[in-house]
Amino acid sequence: STIIDIDRVSQVFQTSTRKDHLALSDISLTIEEGAFVSILGPSGCGKSTLLYIVGGFVSPTSGTAKIKGQPITGPGPDRGPVFQEFALFPWKTVLGNVMYGPRQQGVRATQAEAQSRMLIEMVGLKGYENFYPKELSGGMKQRVALARTLAYHPEVLLMDEPFGALDAHTRTRLQNDLLNIWERDRKTVLFVTHSVDEAVFLSDKVVMMSTSPGRIREVIDIDLPRPRR
Ligand code: ADP
Ligand code: ADP
Repeated sequence: STIIDIDRVSQVFQTSTRKDHLALSDISLTIEEGAFVSILGPSGCGKSTLLYIVGGFVSPTSGTAKIKGQPITGPGPDRGPVFQEFALFPWKTVLGNVMYGPRQQGVRATQAEAQSRMLIEMVGLKGYENFYPKELSGGMKQRVALARTLAYHPEVLLMDEPFGALDAHTRTRLQNDLLNIWERDRKTVLFVTHSVDEAVFLSDKVVMMSTSPGRIREVIDIDLPRPRR
């Protein structure tokens, strides 16, 4: 069934240099529960904006965005962002970063710790529980960020070029880890990328966007068997 319904959404940004910049123009898109959907397109076509709208961080200028039939009015625990902007807490260890969400949600410390240790193991960081972010490589930090978001048990994962800055080897490993998590938990994933290879490798569906103004050009179903590499 449909989990996310984006209906005729437009987004206008007011800026000092270009007033009334149309970042998204009349976008409609429905996403099925459990689907892995990539959003692909050139820089500036509105990919992040679309993700921010689903995340509830940006309210569309016109049109509606719904999750499970309810209008999106703000961020919620059902949607877990894995964005570069939400950096890890540098003063907390790996375990402290991952435990933060469940603790905020009122989960008891012992239970939060047990769950967090499992998630840390799942993202391949067993043994690094007491490390601080600055002691970790880029790929390891991305794994912690993923574990931290998964600790909130979101139904939908929102990922904005999570592996863009990584070397090819690390990226492949994290892509495979993410697919394993997705296949195990059947989460809905919205994944922004500008890599065609990455989109085809990961997704059931690729949303192709074009720029000036941001529009959906085409939605492509990927019917290749897994594993694809
Ligand atoms: P993408 O993720 O595809 O690179 P974005 O969604 O980040 O694209 O941006 C789409 C367009 O909207 C760009 O032209 C960008 O400069 C503009 N934009 C995004 N956020 C803002 C903002 N907060 N204020 C003004 N302009 C913005
Ligand atoms: P990842 O694929 O997790 O990004 P890298 O490819 O950067 O990891 O590094 C390979 C391995 O080297 C890591 O899994 C880890 O065991 C170790 N490693 C890398 N950077 C560090 C670091 N800063 N401190 C401790 N160990 C590290």
